Formats: sequence, structure tokens, C-alpha cells
Amino acid sequence: MADVQVVVIGAGPGGYAAAFLAADLGLKTALVDPEINPGGVCVYRGCIPSKALLHVANLLAETRHAEAWGVSFGEPKIDLAKLRAFKDNVVKRLTGGTGLLAKSRKVQYVQGRGEMVDAHTLRVKLAAGGEQTLTFDHAIIATGSVPAVPAPLKLDDPRVMDSTSALDLPDIPKSMLVVGGGYIGLELGSVYAALGSAVSVVEMTGGLLPGADRDLVDVLAKRIGQTMKAVWLNTRVVQMKAEAGGIRVTFEGDKVGSEIQKEQVFDRVLVAVGRRPNASVPGLEATKVVVDPRGFIVVDDQMRTAEPSIFAIGDVVGEPMLAHKASHEGRTAVEVIAGEKVAFAPKAIPAVVFTDPELAWAGLTETQAQKAGRTVAIAKFPWAASGRALTLDRADGLTKLLIDPATERILGVGLVGPNAGELIAEGVLAIEMGANATDLKLSIHPHPTLSETLMESAEVFFGQSTHVYKPKRS
Ligand code: NAD
Repeated sequence: MADVQVVVIGAGPGGYAAAFLAADLGLKTALVDPEINPGGVCVYRGCIPSKALLHVANLLAETRHAEAWGVSFGEPKIDLAKLRAFKDNVVKRLTGGTGLLAKSRKVQYVQGRGEMVDAHTLRVKLAAGGEQTLTFDHAIIATGSVPAVPAPLKLDDPRVMDSTSALDLPDIPKSMLVVGGGYIGLELGSVYAALGSAVSVVEMTGGLLPGADRDLVDVLAKRIGQTMKAVWLNTRVVQMKAEAGGIRVTFEGDKVGSEIQKEQVFDRVLVAVGRRPNASVPGLEATKVVVDPRGFIVVDDQMRTAEPSIFAIGDVVGEPMLAHKASHEGRTAVEVIAGEKVAFAPKAIPAVVFTDPELAWAGLTETQAQKAGRTVAIAKFPWAASGRALTLDRADGLTKLLIDPATERILGVGLVGPNAGELIAEGVLAIEMGANATDLKLSIHPHPTLSETLMESAEVFFGQSTHVYKPKRS
């Protein structure tokens, strides 16, 4: 008999959700990770600490905005050590909690790094020293992803940061360059800008957040244009050099030499140009597990690899690299191991960018519909027509629905505005439940709330929105 029925390698939100469910289903389970408690990149060095800092950034932005409402607080004094302690305590509380949850469920938590010996044996190099060998019936690889750093952006200097070191908040630099206008660049760039750094963003494509719908991004870009010192699109970094006075960066692009100075010096640089899968589990080659040319472990819709005893989930199996996708894949893998006939087949995986305003979408996007040549009806409700948005002095938001013109089913939802990340959950439910525009229109939403913008978008589809006069074209 094997030591455990299930061993999960990697204790991020994918891995620990899987291990906890396996234990709940009565399977003897081990969870292996180098950290002292479950949490992974998301809780220790990603989603959670960044949200703690973004909460403070939003507060600072609100206090500045309050001047327009006749309330002035003066210049904020920032105690960096205390701010770091707040963020670190959030992480400590949460990981302490997941540690306790593992214990109460009798999940054997092994602190160390796993190496595959064969398709049923894992050797763990223990964090405390020494080794432990675990035999298993099934393994779930949940080793996540690591920051991708292309050669021109590699510089061994503490002033060049990735998301992990940026979250350590070493100081508030006078000037900072963010390379990459994606999730991490915009979220962490916003934090530093709110704290007082002059932040410039360089993005190699023609727009921020490539992949997201432009009408939503435009609203965010407008505000980012006010809070950041500069945003340079269609521009890339070709070289970085460490100098005593800062990091000298050389740019390349259409506007370099005219609107953008070719060489500039920054106090700090944050490199956030994407993440790559972490399939580098030693010994994996001793199994039949297949890794594709991009570095993702190949799995089917039941999260099975080519090795019957081994499953894989989360960032290491493919995009989107999001914690909530990993958790659901992890739970699917465990249910399959437990003998249930299930597959990972979501209609909508929500994406949220926690900037100010927040940007969120779920299901089909307009960009995807255009690429696929698919005809969809689009109903938009501008937040300028929302009473609640006006009470927040945030008329800049937008809610949109993508609707199948034949069945009137909701295929996609997009939102930009404060709390978009919370509001999108209703869109996910609507898409997953096969709701149509009438369902959304007839569901009574509380007044006055931002959630009404979803209901009124459905009313817009029928040309009957109370607060937008836009008759339906016949
Ligand atoms: P990203 O893919 O979101 O953005 C990277 C950006 O860098 C892209 O816009 C890309 O065009 C640009 N880029 C690439 N090479 C460049 C270069 N040489 N010069 C200038 N720009 C360049 O990646 P990220 O921001 O590093 O985040 C990684 C992943 O982590 C995300 O894709 C997401 O899955 C996850 N994440 C999610 C959240 C969230 O859910 N809120 C937050 C942070 C990270």
C-alpha cells in the first residue's frame, strides 16, 4: 500500500484547494511546499499582499479626490515600515489559517521541495534538512509559474525588481519605470504612484492590457494617464545598465527619439512582462508526463497528464494564469481521482485587474468575438447614468453585455469602474446558468447600487433602459 492516496506538489490556491478537498473526500493526502504554510505565490508574494497595498493606494487616491467634495486632509505621511507590517500581517494571518486548516483536515503537510523518483514515488528535500520519500497512488502537480525575464531585461541589481521584490516596498523611489502594461505592471505601478513615485510605463504593444476590450481599457487608460507620469505604447526596452545614479534604460519604438527620449535614468525599474510555467519538477522526465514547447504540462479536460497516476493543474498547465482557475482545476482533479465523472469545462473564468478603476470581464469578450467572426449584440450602460456611481463621483465606469442575438443568452460581461471585481461575479453566474437578457432585466437589483448597471445593460439591449434613452433599432 502506498504511503498516501494523493500527494499534491505545490501549495498555492490550486494545490491547497485540491489537498483540502481530497482530505474532505476521505483520501489520505499529503501536501508538499517549501513554505512553512500553504499559500503559494498568490498568498505570500502575489494576489494578497498586492491587494493590501492597493487598498492603501485607493485610500490615498480617495483622500486626494476628497478635496473636490470640500474635505482636505493635507499631504499624507507614510510610515513605510508600518505599511510593510500591515501587508506582512495579512499574509501571516492568512497562511496561519491555511496551516491550521491543513492540520484540522489531517493533511500531511511536508515542508520541502519534491522530486519525482518514478510514477508512484516522490522524494522531498526537506526545508529542515534531510529527505523524505513518499509513495502515492496519485500525484497532482500544482507548481505554478515564475516571472519571465527576457535577456535584455536581466540585470543583477536590486534596483531592478520583479513583482516579488516590488512587494517588499524597499523604499518610495522618486522615479520608477514599469516595463509591461499588463496586470502586474498596472497594479504595482499604481501602488508606487499613489505612494508618491513618478511612474512611467513602457508597453511594447499598441495598448495597455492586451487582450482586454478596448472600450474598457480606454476608461482605465484615461485615469492612468493622470496618475502616472507617462505611458509609452509601442515601445520596448532594449538595454538596461546599472549606474551609480540609477538604472540607465535604452528604448526602441516609433516615438523614441521624438516624443520619448532614447536613454533615460530611473531610480528603480519593475519588470512585469509576463510569467512562465514552472514545470521544472526534478525527475519529471522519469515519468510519461509531457511538457509542451512553451513549458506547459499537457493535460486533458480531467486534468490528467500522459502518466495515468499524475495530474496537473493551475498556471503550470496553461492560461489564464489565475488563482481561481487553479483552485477549480484542483478540485476537478481530485474529484476525478475519487472516481467522479467530471471535467473542467467552465463557460466563464473571470479576470480582474485591481487598478483604480478596476477592470473585469468574464465569458466572451468583444475582441474574441471579432477574431472569431461571431455576431453578437452589445449592450452598454455608461456609469454616468448610474445614481450610485454619481454619489461616488465616479461617472467614468462602463458595464457591457455581449448577447447572442438569436437566443438572447448572455455570452460575456465586461466592467470597468470601482468594485468591478466584485460585480463581475453576477456576470459569471449569469453565463454559467445560461441566463438570457430577460432574466437579468427581470431580476430586481437593489437601488442605489452599481449592480443595477448590469440589469440596466440588459434593459439597454431591449431599448428600454430607465436611465438611458436608446430606442432599439428595428
Ligand atoms: P501580463 O501578460 O499581464 O502583461 C505583460 C505585459 O508586458 C504585456 O502587456 C506585454 O505586451 C508586455 N511586454 C512584454 N514584453 C515586453 C517588453 N520587452 N517591453 C515592454 N512591454 C513588454 O503579465 P504580468 O503583468 O507580468 O502578469 C503575469 C500574469 O500574472 C498575468 O497574465 C496574470 O495571469 C497573473 N496576474 C493576475 C493578476 C490578477 O488576477 N489581478 C494580478 C497579477 C498577475
